[in-house]
Amino acid sequence: MRPSKISAVVKLLRRNFGRRKFTKQTDPVGELVKTILSQNTSDRNSFRAYNNLKKRFKNWDALRKSKVAAIRREIKIAGLANVKTPRIREALEEIKRRRGSLSLRFLRGLNTKEGYAFLRSIKGIGPKTAAVVLLFSFGKPIMPVDTHIHRVTKRLGILDEKATHEEAQEYFSAVVPKGLIYEFHINLISHGREICVARNPRCGICDLKRLCKYYKERYGR
Ligand code: SF4
Repeated sequence: MRPSKISAVVKLLRRNFGRRKFTKQTDPVGELVKTILSQNTSDRNSFRAYNNLKKRFKNWDALRKSKVAAIRREIKIAGLANVKTPRIREALEEIKRRRGSLSLRFLRGLNTKEGYAFLRSIKGIGPKTAAVVLLFSFGKPIMPVDTHIHRVTKRLGILDEKATHEEAQEYFSAVVPKGLIYEFHINLISHGREICVARNPRCGICDLKRLCKYYKERYGR
């Protein structure tokens, strides 16, 4: 794994997908709910489920107090409603119990490590969800690794073949320059969705091929 190669990948991705800058803080509880909904489903369906919740409940506290069946109905479209409903409710309950209110805005004042530790101590919040909340709500320098990033970075040879999602998250959070993590995360996902797709990656039109381990092994160039 070579950090210098990561810089080259960042530059090439920027040429294709643009420079991305973190500009706007988002509601961290909303980000948490959105990320739980996004597990094992398409973006389209998880957005629809999220919008259903926003329409149905006037705030997160109303959702927390509502009947399980009402939440389940609204998020059915995102799949695994029987798993996601208790996961969301329990996380909200726990935040309320520990903080006295249903807000995660205090995380802004903590450093990344402390914020991450707090989120991970809540049942149902895994490594990726915790990282997404910190990166997207506050611009903290931590790199969530989803299935696209995991696949693309392994193919490129900038991640160890055997690295788990969590190990990849730790590695990239440590080696990618802090100011580039947000951009690297978003552009890698775009690349994974549009070019380096799971089946039949579109290597012929890929600008990253001269750096790519998979390409070299497959095409010998
Ligand atoms: S050359 Fe192929 S495998 Fe490598 S990053 Fe591009 S699309 Fe993915």
